[in-house]
Amino acid sequence: MTIDISSVQAFHGHLCPGLAIGIRVAEKALLEMGERPGDEEVVAFVETNNCAVDAIQFITGCTFGKGNLIHLDYGKNAFRFLRRSDLKAIRIRVRPETWDPPPPEEGLRTQRMRSEQSAEADKEKATALRRRRMDWILSAPLADLIEVQPIEADLPPRAQIYSSVVCARCGERTMDIRLRMLEG
Ligand SMILES: [Zn+2]
Repeated sequence: MTIDISSVQAFHGHLCPGLAIGIRVAEKALLEMGERPGDEEVVAFVETNNCAVDAIQFITGCTFGKGNLIHLDYGKNAFRFLRRSDLKAIRIRVRPETWDPPPPEEGLRTQRMRSEQSAEADKEKATALRRRRMDWILSAPLADLIEVQPIEADLPPRAQIYSSVVCARCGERTMDIRLRMLEG
C-alpha cells in the first residue's frame, strides 16, 4: 500500500508530527479493515481532535460529512475503527513515547535557557529536531509507534438524511429535527 504523503499534506495544510502519526494510524487501519471498502462500511471513532484526524479522514475515507467519523472528546491519542459487515472493532493507540524528543537532543531546552544569543541556533535546532521526529514517525515500524487492541463493537446508526425546512424566524433552511414549533 502506498500513501501519497504530499496529498495528505495538501489536504491538512502543513506537515507536522501529529499528521505523521495520523498517516501511520490510517495505514494500520487500512491493513486491519481492508483498503477503503464501500462508503460508510468502516466507522472511525477518534478520541481526540488533533492534526492526526485529518490524515485519518483523507486516507481511510471515514469523514465527518459522511457521518462515519465520530469524535469522542477524551483528549487521547487513540483511534477506534469498526467494520459494519462483520463487526470487527479495534482501538489503535499511539505509544506515549512516540511523542518524546529523541534522546540525543534532550539538552536543547536547558541550552535555550542559558543563552539568548543562541536563540536563532536553537530555533534551527528545534526545526531540525521536529523534522527528524516526523521522518522517524513516517519510517518507523508500526509496532514501535502504535498498538492495536481488540474492542467490543458498538454500532452507530448510519448517517441520516433529514429534510430541511425554512425557519419562519430566521429564514434559513434548517434540519427539521432541529426546528421547534413555537406558539403554533
Ligand atoms: Zn498539523
